[in-house]
Amino acid sequence: MPLWVYTLIISLLGIVFGSFINVIVFRTKTKDAWWSGRSKCRACLQPVALLDLVPVISYFAIRGRCRHCQSVISAQYPIVEAVTGLLFGLLFVRAALFFGMPEFVAASAWISLFLRDVLIAVFLMIIFIYDFRYGYILDRFTIPAMVIALAFNLALGADPLEYLLAGLMIGGFFAVQYVISKGTWIGGGDIRLGIVMGFYLGLEHGVLALFLSYLLGAIVGLVLIATKKRSMKSSVPFGTFLALGTMVAAVFGDVLLNWYLGYFSF
Ligand SMILES: [Zn+2]
Repeated sequence: MPLWVYTLIISLLGIVFGSFINVIVFRTKTKDAWWSGRSKCRACLQPVALLDLVPVISYFAIRGRCRHCQSVISAQYPIVEAVTGLLFGLLFVRAALFFGMPEFVAASAWISLFLRDVLIAVFLMIIFIYDFRYGYILDRFTIPAMVIALAFNLALGADPLEYLLAGLMIGGFFAVQYVISKGTWIGGGDIRLGIVMGFYLGLEHGVLALFLSYLLGAIVGLVLIATKKRSMKSSVPFGTFLALGTMVAAVFGDVLLNWYLGYFSF
């Protein structure tokens, strides 16, 4: 089969995973069990019809409204499904072409790398949405992500000392701020997410992810202030930007670093 057929299948699988991500985020917030049966309309509590569980398409088929009570269904559902699908496809193509992969991995291990990346991507998506919507970075998402990132990297041949140190340094960077500000600048969740970044990306790409997160946070913050959507005082959830920065650094880290370093070498 040609690569694009595999990519299409993987992307469709990603859309299904996106559907699960929505369920996990929502049910974690409502403290329902993740497996507690079929989704219900949040307004009228009618179970969603089987056909309407088809990701993305069903949202447009019902024009974003509940069939029973006509209440508006959040656009978060189809957006998360579509983005997860695209992300799965992108990560698959990147792994298959072995684009910008860590030096310690042999090209023959590309499927393991793909597995590592999609697993981390799913956790980062959940962390992104949860912090964006509810303002918390939960340990039940960061701790498994830490374990997965480190276990995959070590199994694939990464230098244990380098990756352990990267996690400690980036986590420590937040821990210092946490202590200085007595927990007012950042929360404990940021420290755990920092450890994930180091364990997943190593020091060089981890620091790049940190830089990208601050940059994205500053840009979005300025746009929100300029459009008066938020005041100077209200904060934008930082875990959202850390998750995004980590994903961008994972995929485009080498491209960005080469461009940046090339820019300054005459
Ligand atoms: Zn309803």
